[in-house]
Amino acid sequence: MTSQIRIAGVVKESIVDGPGIRLVVFAQGCPHHCEGCHNPATHDFNGGQLVAIDAIIDEMKKNPLLDGITLSGGEPFLQPEGFSELAKCAQAAGFHVMTYTGYTFETLLEKKDQRWQRLLRYTDLLVDGRFEAEQKSLLLKFRGSHNQRIIDVKKSQQKNQLVLSEIS
Ligand code: SF4
Repeated sequence: MTSQIRIAGVVKESIVDGPGIRLVVFAQGCPHHCEGCHNPATHDFNGGQLVAIDAIIDEMKKNPLLDGITLSGGEPFLQPEGFSELAKCAQAAGFHVMTYTGYTFETLLEKKDQRWQRLLRYTDLLVDGRFEAEQKSLLLKFRGSHNQRIIDVKKSQQKNQLVLSEIS
């Protein structure tokens, strides 16, 4: 079991990274290099710091205001063991899990990588796709550009077709 993840940082309470009040964990390391990326300091895979998953869960349990956790980036799917463990522990503690990725949902499924499937299994909502500067809009909820989608992962897997979240 992976007990640590490499992160760029944590925001203890956010209302702009998913529904309700959320703790946000920014994965360190991103291969996508989207033009106009909002968080270029997260790109270096050797940057940031290693933190214990247990410490993040303990931090969450201390805050009764939190509704969920958001796994942002950076690219959480390039640390799939650690982030799926974090997502699993967060769900087990009763928190909603929202995960951001620069990959599309289709790419994540096509790869058939068990580690990626595991992170999807413990994700309630997935915001997918690279940030595309020419499709940028400040009016979009919880995402930066029109190509990105907020996907209900459970319903998509049950119906075997992509189901967008009602909060989109
Ligand atoms: S996926 Fe996110 S963190 Fe990575 S380059 Fe694109 S906008 Fe930046």
